[in-house]
Amino acid sequence: MNIDGLGEFGLIERIRAGEGTLPRGIMGIGDDCAVLPQRKGYKTLVSTDLLMEGVHFLLEDIDPYSLGWKSAAVNLSDIAAMGGRPLGSFLAFALPKALDSKWMDDFFRGYRAVSGLCSAPLLGGDTTSSLDRLCICVTVLGECEDGHEILRSGARPGDRICVSGTLGDSAGGLKLILGGLPRAGAGERLIERHYRPVPRVAEGQRIAACGATAMMDISDGIGSDLRHITRASGVGAVVRVKDLPLSEELLSQSALYGWNARGLAIDGGEDYELLFTMPSDALRNLDIPYTEIGEIVPGEDILWEGASSQEHKGFRHF
Ligand code: ADP
Ligand code: MG
Repeated sequence: MNIDGLGEFGLIERIRAGEGTLPRGIMGIGDDCAVLPQRKGYKTLVSTDLLMEGVHFLLEDIDPYSLGWKSAAVNLSDIAAMGGRPLGSFLAFALPKALDSKWMDDFFRGYRAVSGLCSAPLLGGDTTSSLDRLCICVTVLGECEDGHEILRSGARPGDRICVSGTLGDSAGGLKLILGGLPRAGAGERLIERHYRPVPRVAEGQRIAACGATAMMDISDGIGSDLRHITRASGVGAVVRVKDLPLSEELLSQSALYGWNARGLAIDGGEDYELLFTMPSDALRNLDIPYTEIGEIVPGEDILWEGASSQEHKGFRHF
């Protein structure tokens, strides 16, 4: 059945029925607003992101499960980037009428899989038809202890610059998709990193608790994202390009296709790993996997030590 037959309210009811019971004290889908309790000594974190067909994803390539996953994941990643705990999400979309209910069910399976991982139930949204493209807007809510939110502006000279996970995999996956290249083995894993990034929520909370001075998630590539931290903090940085964490999969596919793996790690984007700064003595207590890639220095420039070019812009929409 296509969603035209289901109708707006039929679809909303289907979405509501798919959500399990909510944590005590929270009211989600069904009324004019969701209702959440407020905790003393905590701050609310809110973030929103839009995913537009043709700009952020190709509807003819991405499977609905992955699209649902990615829609929730890129938003939950923003809560992770503050060191916060997710509370829930809101999903507004404009749907082309040709989508069928099987497609919607698969979309929500993906959406709920990552929401479940992060304990962030779907609490509401909005549903309209679209004359042409699919447009998805997700808003996430989270919380953190008052004063414990990790901003982009706290980096200080001497702090170490670190990242979680490996960089450039998602960009490698996108190259395979756009180039119509084979997707077996290592290629498959790169595409999975592109389509189903895992928000580093638990890691973000550990990094915050350990004393990070600045943090953000890597959506446009560190070539552009590190600049946000240095600008906001009024500092410079030195990055040792040889120390960037690269996966076996990215290295093998780069060797095969002649890609510049380190270039992808810097400017590729959509890694959704965490980029953070921390004094070295605090870093000794950090008990999650991470890689130190450089140091914050006085000034305002970023030196990409060992890179063929100093011009790094990451991904830009305009
Ligand atoms: P309103 O007219 O107040 O906007 P709606 O009929 O659009 O109400 O929505 C009814 C309920 O269903 C609300 O609780 C809303 O948050 C929820 N809802 C609508 N669309 C979605 C969606 N795509 N995902 C989750 N909840 C939704
Ligand atoms: Mg509405």
